[in-house]
Amino acid sequence: MNQNKKSKEPIQVSHLDVKFSSEVTSHKEASALNACFSCGTCTAGCSISEVFPEYSPKKLAKMVKLGMRQSVLSSRFIWYCTTCHNCEQHCPQNVKFFNVLNVLKNMAAKEGYAPSPWAEQTRQIMKSGLIFPLNEELAEKRNALSLPPFKSDGAKAKKLITLTGIDKIESGSQQ
Ligand code: SF4
Ligand code: SF4
Repeated sequence: MNQNKKSKEPIQVSHLDVKFSSEVTSHKEASALNACFSCGTCTAGCSISEVFPEYSPKKLAKMVKLGMRQSVLSSRFIWYCTTCHNCEQHCPQNVKFFNVLNVLKNMAAKEGYAPSPWAEQTRQIMKSGLIFPLNEELAEKRNALSLPPFKSDGAKAKKLITLTGIDKIESGSQQ
């Protein structure tokens, strides 16, 4: 789904999942979404909306409530949040929208919509314990600062990741 789609196409009621909203709010951390009255204050104060005007927590909240399951879970926008907590500070209904997004991201990942860079980073962490590979340039910088060579080991990270089952999650293309 492209949240910024300019199309005036009407929402197809037959494509809506009436249970989607209750499925999301059945998670304790997202239950406050039931109190959302679409005031838009979260979007007005969102640090990401400032940079990407097409990103709107209010719109995503509304889409969840409407039951637009496939559109929401396949949206790249649910992965944009930086967890800055601005929405928590301003929401009159104490929704904490980043928590709702965490629930949506977990659901999206289980259904194969995780962005490919996310899956790539998971593989990298399992390999070395680091999110980015240590390259020669970094090694030289450490050397110049008289720091010892960095030794990384992904064994512990791999064990933890395997326990959570994250390693089995397939990534999907984001629209
Ligand atoms: S600020 Fe809170 S109540 Fe208003 S739209 Fe955002 S989540 Fe809903
Ligand atoms: S926590 Fe996420 S949704 Fe909330 S204001 Fe920050 S970037 Fe926006």
